[in-house]
Amino acid sequence: MLLRIAGMVNDSIVDGPGLRLAVFCQGCRRHCPGCHNPATWDESGGYQAETDDVLAAVGRNPLLDGITLTGGEPFLQAAAAAPLAAAVRARGLTVVTYTGYLWEEITGGPPDWLELARQTDLLVDGPFIMGERNIDLLFRGSVNQRLIDAPASLAAGVPVAWRRFS
Ligand code: SF4
Repeated sequence: MLLRIAGMVNDSIVDGPGLRLAVFCQGCRRHCPGCHNPATWDESGGYQAETDDVLAAVGRNPLLDGITLTGGEPFLQAAAAAPLAAAVRARGLTVVTYTGYLWEEITGGPPDWLELARQTDLLVDGPFIMGERNIDLLFRGSVNQRLIDAPASLAAGVPVAWRRFS
């Protein structure tokens, strides 16, 4: 499947726990003031990548703990991102997904949004809000953004705070 991306970083240590392949999805409609990556807003920018090529990049780095889907807005491309995430998890790796949407919007959203949530281990939700910016936060830029344990939250039916990967 094709995923429109701005690029990938093969050895990120800032986009979730451990060593991660960060996949910067292209396209975001939130346009948060102070966004860290406005070059990813244009939904026709970036380039089309085969998800099999992303998986191949995962396979070439045996030190990876998992991938991080970030952006841009991964949920705008959930139909391609969800099976990619599933394939990564099938290899015993973890999936971190960043989104400008809220957990409640995602779980009440289209079926492919719910599927990407199902294939996510740690979800970082909510838009970046400049007035709530804090550079000391773990894996996120503003206080409103939540680190959500996606499997536990889906099981509980309410957002459950992420602590760490077991
Ligand atoms: S949701 Fe994320 S990528 Fe989109 S504008 Fe806001 S900070 Fe930028």
